[in-house]
Amino acid sequence: MTSDKLTAARRTVLRAGVVIGTLAAARLVLGQDGGPPAPPEAARRARGLTGRTGPTDGTATGTPEAPRLRAMAGETSRSGPGASPPRAEVAFTLPGRDREIALTFDDGPDPRYTPEILQLLRRHRARATFFVVGECALAFPDLLHYIAEEGHTIGNHTWTHPQLTALPPGEVRAELGRTSALIEEILGSAPTLARAPYGDWDPLSLAVCNDLGMSPVGWSVDSEDWTRPGPERIADTVLDELGPGAIVLCHDGGGDRLQTVQALEWYLPELLDQGYEPVRVPG
Ligand SMILES: [Zn+2]
Repeated sequence: MTSDKLTAARRTVLRAGVVIGTLAAARLVLGQDGGPPAPPEAARRARGLTGRTGPTDGTATGTPEAPRLRAMAGETSRSGPGASPPRAEVAFTLPGRDREIALTFDDGPDPRYTPEILQLLRRHRARATFFVVGECALAFPDLLHYIAEEGHTIGNHTWTHPQLTALPPGEVRAELGRTSALIEEILGSAPTLARAPYGDWDPLSLAVCNDLGMSPVGWSVDSEDWTRPGPERIADTVLDELGPGAIVLCHDGGGDRLQTVQALEWYLPELLDQGYEPVRVPG
């Protein structure tokens, strides 16, 4: 099962679900009856907390072998004057003006690809959103600074990229909380956006996301760059499926992303020519 099919199935569940009360019970129901059965491969991945597979196939040489033990900073949350509550529902498109779209890059940062993507975005004066994996952010904090200084938004993509819906509640909180704490430690402010690995949310993980001050983000266009179909195919997929308000899923880490970079070089000027405006996902 591909990640987008899994996501589509989950969307149905999410739209039907209401995030209230007895979340552990809700998860039990979802897991047994309400949701699609987890694919064996995904379940296998989810059991290995250090495995970064699927769309992230774990081949990234820049990935640290294991997250270093570190003191947990206090769990972060959006607070203070002017803070707005996070969205409860997963955003699959932008609420903004007609020609705005959002390019999103998951599973980094990766020193082989993230800087090249940042340079392309700079060249075309485009903004994007990067959903980073905690253990990669820990390994490459300078890349987090680089992303932020270029004016892009950094979101939370968990610490080790597990399937959140297969984890007990405490581990869901640890995966998201530890990553938010690290981002806050590096950049001085906690992320206000999160994306679940494989786009796989359930009421419990959504509640944890909200509790940590983050709005959940999905996507409407899967570039399928992680399947490495060739840069032309990736570019065609993005351009064919793009529409006003689209959120585009791409990857700057988790494996060989050379095709992602090459495709971006191709489709970014083209979508600009078509009048689209790449913006950050609003927090
Ligand atoms: Zn991912």
